[in-house]
Amino acid sequence: MASKKILFLTTGGTIASKPTPRGTVPAVGAADLLKIVPDMQKYGNIHVKELMRIDSSNMQPEDWLCIAEACFKGLDEHDGVVISHGTHTMAYTASALSFMLRNLHKPVVLTGAQIPFTEKRSDAAKNLKDSLLFACDGAPGVFIVFDSMVIRGCRATKMSTDRFDAFESINSPLIATIRGEVIHYSFRPPLPEKRPSLHMHVNTSVCVLKLTPGTEPSLLQMIGNMGYRALVIECFGAGGVPALKRNLIPAVRSLTRKGTLVVASSQCVRGGVDLKMYDVGRKSLDAGILSGLDMTTEAIITKLMWALGRSTDPKTVKKIMHKNHADELTPDYRIHIS
Ligand code: ASP
Repeated sequence: MASKKILFLTTGGTIASKPTPRGTVPAVGAADLLKIVPDMQKYGNIHVKELMRIDSSNMQPEDWLCIAEACFKGLDEHDGVVISHGTHTMAYTASALSFMLRNLHKPVVLTGAQIPFTEKRSDAAKNLKDSLLFACDGAPGVFIVFDSMVIRGCRATKMSTDRFDAFESINSPLIATIRGEVIHYSFRPPLPEKRPSLHMHVNTSVCVLKLTPGTEPSLLQMIGNMGYRALVIECFGAGGVPALKRNLIPAVRSLTRKGTLVVASSQCVRGGVDLKMYDVGRKSLDAGILSGLDMTTEAIITKLMWALGRSTDPKTVKKIMHKNHADELTPDYRIHIS
């Protein structure tokens, strides 16, 4: 292990926070945080760099670009990268990096903690140790390592505000579990054939609307009038959109005809969207809505921003959205009640 060179990037988050009278705030950088890992020299020669020191609620797409560039440059001289990050938006950053860092041949691992490193019950040291261990093992791709689980970055969702197993792999098996110093792989991603590449363009003109009974069609018109290039509608169940009272179908059709991408995600965390399953779904399909298949909402949003960074032509973006780039989707997903 000691022969490996690992780059440790820090961005803030609870993992690096200290309690203050106004709540926890990120308080330490990479060098101090690394000290919490016992025998850290076991996990290679670790070079440290603090990128930012923020609560990840403040993380913006422009910050993803900064992290992606630091990772891409760092991977030239290192065998892997570990990024400590707040848990609130870690799944967004992990999804975004999955599209910005293409065909990685080495690991980029994000981790954090539910309890600050300063407190006795903190999960910081274990998550950081597991992340360094996994980064030294060389599996290619972007991952979240948290509570002994290795989750593909573009399949992660934060499910709990107060449990150590805060993240879940959605619609995709865990990559691995870590017990002590042993990594138990369920699936080790293969090395991509293509060379790694960095895609630094994102277009943030993406809006998300969670449907509730009573959603007014005028809301969709307002979103269209604000010039958003894409709207993600968090639909009911398998992709239900109201088509009787407060009928949203005409508003969807009006948006898609104007060239706005409208993508259906599901309010159900697990499973995905199958617009052919119900009549209401078929009506929205006819109105031009695009199925989000079994992608997480985080993956849909970040993939749209990345796709729109490459082209604003709706047909081109639709093709990109339904292509599998980082195992973020199951091609031709259809609901099978199991
Ligand atoms: N507020 C913190 C953050 O996301 C929460 C955490 O890291 O667990 O930065």
